[in-house]
Parts: sequence; C-alpha cells; structure tokens
Amino acid sequence: MGLTIYLDGELVPESEAKVSVFDHGLLYGDGIFEGIRAYDGRVFRLDEHLDRLYQGAQTLMLDIPVSKQEMSDALCATCRANDIHDGYIRLVVTRGVGDLGLDPRKCPTPSVIIIAAQIALYPEKYYTEGLELITCATRRVPPDALDPALKPLNYLNNIMAKIETTRAGVPEGIMLSYDGYVSECTGDNLFLVVDGALVTPPLHIGNLKGITRQAVIGLAEAEGIEVREELFRSHQVYNADEVFLTGTAAELIPAVKVDGRSIGDGTPGPVTGKLLERFQQLTRSEGTPIYDE
Ligand code: PMP
Repeated sequence: MGLTIYLDGELVPESEAKVSVFDHGLLYGDGIFEGIRAYDGRVFRLDEHLDRLYQGAQTLMLDIPVSKQEMSDALCATCRANDIHDGYIRLVVTRGVGDLGLDPRKCPTPSVIIIAAQIALYPEKYYTEGLELITCATRRVPPDALDPALKPLNYLNNIMAKIETTRAGVPEGIMLSYDGYVSECTGDNLFLVVDGALVTPPLHIGNLKGITRQAVIGLAEAEGIEVREELFRSHQVYNADEVFLTGTAAELIPAVKVDGRSIGDGTPGPVTGKLLERFQQLTRSEGTPIYDE
C-alpha cells in the first residue's frame, strides 16, 4: 500500500502522483523545498519552515499558489491521510510546466507537492557513539553565487560532497567556504564546543539558516551557555572539545572523529548530550497540532 500524496490541491494515491517531464523543477532544479518533522502528532516549527519556503519563493519570483495558512492546512491534512504522528514531511514547490528554455515566465503555474512519510531514523549508535566526518574537497557554493537562505531543488553542490563522504565510508562531511572557512555539513549545520561555549559559523559565509540550528542556539542560551557565531578553519574543529551536527532529520548528532583526528576524548561530550536531551524535550512540548487535541 502506497502513501497518499498532496499534489496541486488534491490528495492522490502515490501511484497517481506524477509531474510532467516539462516541469522546470525536473529540467533545471528550479524550485524549492523544506524537510519538516512531526513529533507526537504535532509539526515542529512549521511557521519557521513556511517562512523560509515563502521567503525563498519571493527571492526566486515564484508565486506559490496557496497562502501560508492553506499550505499549513494541506500539510496537516496530508499527515492525517497517512496517519502520521511521528514522521518526516517533504514540501516541494516546483516552477511548474514550461518549455525547454530557462525562462521561468514560460511556467505559469508552480506545482505544490507534500509527502508525509514515516521517518527513517538514524542508527541509535550515532547518538551513543558519535560519528566520523571528513572534510570534503567540494566547496560550498559562495553566497554571492546563490543565497544560502534558499533550499533549492538543485542540491548538486551538496550531493557532490555527499559522494565524497560515502566513498570515504563516513555518513557526513564538512564543507568549506570558497575561502577555506568551515561552513556546514552536506545536509546539516555544524557546532563546536570550545571551553564550554558553542561556536558555529556565521550565516554570511554561505550556510543554511537551519531551523534546528536556531532551536539549539535558543536552548543553549536558556542554559546559560555562551553562543558565538564566528569564522574558523579545520584546525579549530580538530582541537574542539566537542563537535556536533544539527538538522531536521539528524536532530543533534555528536561527531567524534574528523579527518582521522579524535575530538576531545573520542566519545560524545556532555554539552552535546545535554543539548540533545533539551532538544528532544522541546520537540515533544510544542508544535502545530495535526489532529484535534
Ligand atoms: N544545511 C543544509 C545544507 C541542509 O540541507 C540542512 C537540512 N535542511 C541543514 C543545514 C539543516 O537545516 P534544518 O535544521 O532546517 O533541517
């Protein structure tokens, strides 16, 4: 039995959820997306995800054909149609059907797709033992080429780096900015713990303003942990007390080895553990209800 998919205003069986070969989302990666989590029958930080999506659309001059409220309603309806209480929701807006040229004006109607599925959780051992990272040779796209605030359908920059990590046999990798500063991971933001403070790269060097990143910064500040957004290079990563990743799917995952260097004592650290615990409490204590409460 397949999923029920939201496609352009209708809930349809997965087997009927099809887009045209002339959709510029397919032809050029012209479109944007969000990856969202539901916990315990509520959608986590839905407003933030919708803000990021609609701001991206504004920049791309892409008129999403539904309001934020309609999108939120459609997303919850898609979750209900699939009986999702804890899951992963993919929201996609494509430029829509056009001709074989680049010009987006040839695509009058963007398509909206919502997929709500059970989440394939990361292995528990990533959280208890930590994971290993490499630094990828592929540099992050510079912000003056493509604004990192966008989550475009074309993810080739990140996929090129992901190919490097899988070839190296590790699950994630660090991407540097064009001038060699640490930017983020292929699909997650990156944090260091240095002398009890959290350090993360500033957004202007070209990393995504992750919703999890923002939530973790808020949690750290509530715990009285100093948070600094500053530039650093690989040397500071190798010598950090703790390193962890943040992302919607990952939540917080400790990294215990980077480019063969053990981080701290080579096991997940206490600050990461404390913030993960707080994050898990947060995800279960707020959110947009999917079902009548
Ligand atoms: N960076 C990149 C490149 C990503 O794709 C993601 C996942 N969307 C993140 C960071 C983490 O962002 P969020 O916490 O909003 O999932």
